[in-house]
Amino acid sequence: MSFKDECGVFGIWGHTEAANLTYLGLYALQHRGQEAVGIASSDGGRLRIHKALGYVADNFDEPTITRLAGMSAIGHVRYSTAGDSGIKNAQPILIDCAHGEIAICHNGNLVNAQELRDRLVSDGSIFQTTSDTEVLLHLYARSKAPTPEQAIVESVSQAQGAFSLVLLTKDRMIAVRDPHGFRPLTLGRLGDSYIVCSETCALDLIDAEWIRDIQPGEVFIVGPEGEKSIFPFAPAKQAHCIFEHVYFARPDSYVFGRSVNEVRTELGRSLAREQGVPADVIVPIPDSGVCAATGFAEESGIPMQMGLIRNHYVGRTFIEPHQSIRHFGVRVKLNPVKSILAGRRVVLVDDSIVRGTTSRKIVKMVRNAGATEVHMRISCPPTISPCFYGVDTPKRADLIAATHTLEQIREFIGADSVGYLSLNGLLSAVGEGRSSYCTSCYTGEYPVAVPQNEAAYLQLALKLAD
Ligand code: SF4
Repeated sequence: MSFKDECGVFGIWGHTEAANLTYLGLYALQHRGQEAVGIASSDGGRLRIHKALGYVADNFDEPTITRLAGMSAIGHVRYSTAGDSGIKNAQPILIDCAHGEIAICHNGNLVNAQELRDRLVSDGSIFQTTSDTEVLLHLYARSKAPTPEQAIVESVSQAQGAFSLVLLTKDRMIAVRDPHGFRPLTLGRLGDSYIVCSETCALDLIDAEWIRDIQPGEVFIVGPEGEKSIFPFAPAKQAHCIFEHVYFARPDSYVFGRSVNEVRTELGRSLAREQGVPADVIVPIPDSGVCAATGFAEESGIPMQMGLIRNHYVGRTFIEPHQSIRHFGVRVKLNPVKSILAGRRVVLVDDSIVRGTTSRKIVKMVRNAGATEVHMRISCPPTISPCFYGVDTPKRADLIAATHTLEQIREFIGADSVGYLSLNGLLSAVGEGRSSYCTSCYTGEYPVAVPQNEAAYLQLALKLAD
C-alpha cells in the first residue's frame, strides 16, 4: 500500500466538448497520479495547454476548460517516477518544431532515456525538463521523416522500456504502446469520437463504449481521414505489469482484458487456500486490500468486517501536534473500529509490505484496539526488487522482503503470523495470459535489460538513491 501509482493518460478526438471530457476522464484516473495534472487541446489550427501541480478538481474551472478550445484534447495525471515532481515536468509536454506543434502524455519509464539524452545533448539539444518523456520529443523534432506520423515512429523506435503514449498534433491524435505492453492503454468510442485512456473506468464516467485495448507495439492514429493502426516495431515478449491487477488499477476497471475486481478477489481466494489461519474476522487494510479480503473471507468462510476505517479526505501534508500521539502518521489515514477488533483473532489483508514500517504501525494499532491475535496476509509474493518500468519503488535495500526472512518480517511488524501469496498463486489468478505478465518486482528477473550505467541513472531518477 505504500507504492506510488505511476501516471494516467487520456485522449479524445472529434468531440465538441473535448477538453471537458478529458477533465472528467482525468478525474476518473486521479488514483494513478496526484502530483500534477495537465490538458492540451487542438482547435485544428493551434494547440493550447493548461498544467498545474495537484489534483484535477482543484486546477480546472469553467473558464480554463473553455479556453482549451477544439475538438480534440489529451490529458495526464502525474506521479513522478523519472524526473522531479515540479511543474516543469508536468505533462502534456508541448513543443513546436519543423513537424508543427505536438503535445505528448506518457505513462511508463524509458530504460535508455539517459543514454539517448546524453547523445542528444552532445549533439546540441537543450532540455527544459528532467523527464524521460522529453527525450522522445527531441528525437521527434530532429527526425527528417516526411510526415509527423513517420517522425513519431522513428523517434519512438529508439526508446526501450515502458511507454503508453498519447500524442496530439493540430489535426491528429496518436496512441502508442510499447511492444511489451507494460502499461495499459485502451480504446473507446463516444458517438463518432475516439478515446484512448489508461483504464476503462475513465470511459465509464463519460458514458463511452469500450472497444478494445491498444495492442502492444500498436500505433493508433485518428485524423481527418479516419482511423488506422500500424505495427512498426519488432515484436517482443509481452510483459503486462501484474501490479496493475494487484494494486494500481481501480477495481471497476478492465485491464489487460480482465476485470481488476475479479482478479483481485481471486488473489484473496488463492491466498486463503495457501495461507489460511483459524480466526474470527477478516479485516481489509482499506482501500487496496478490500477486494482480496472479500475473496479471502469467501474462501475461508470467516466473515469480513471493516475493522479499519480510512479517512478519504486526508490532504498531502498535515501539521503534526508537538505532543506525541501514538501512531499519529498512520492514524490520520486509518482508525480502528474497537467493537470489531476487541477480543477477536484478526486476519489483516493487504496488497504488499514495502518497508514494513506502515504494517508495523497498523498491527500495533489493531492490537491496541483489543485484538487477541493479528495475522498479516499479503495478496502477492514478497516484493524483492525495484521496478524500472514506471512504478516508484524504494531501492532494493529498503524493501524489507529483499533483506529479511519471513520470520524476521513477522518479528519486525509484530504480527502473530505473516503469509504471502505464491508467484504461482498470483499467476493463476490472472488466468490464461499468465505468461504475458511482468513479475520482476517479485522475481528480480527483468524482461527488458537495464543497461549498467542506466541502472545508476535510474536509481537517481526514480528517487531510489540515498
Ligand atoms: S517490475 Fe513489478 S511494478 Fe514494475 S512493471 Fe514489472 S510487475 Fe509492474
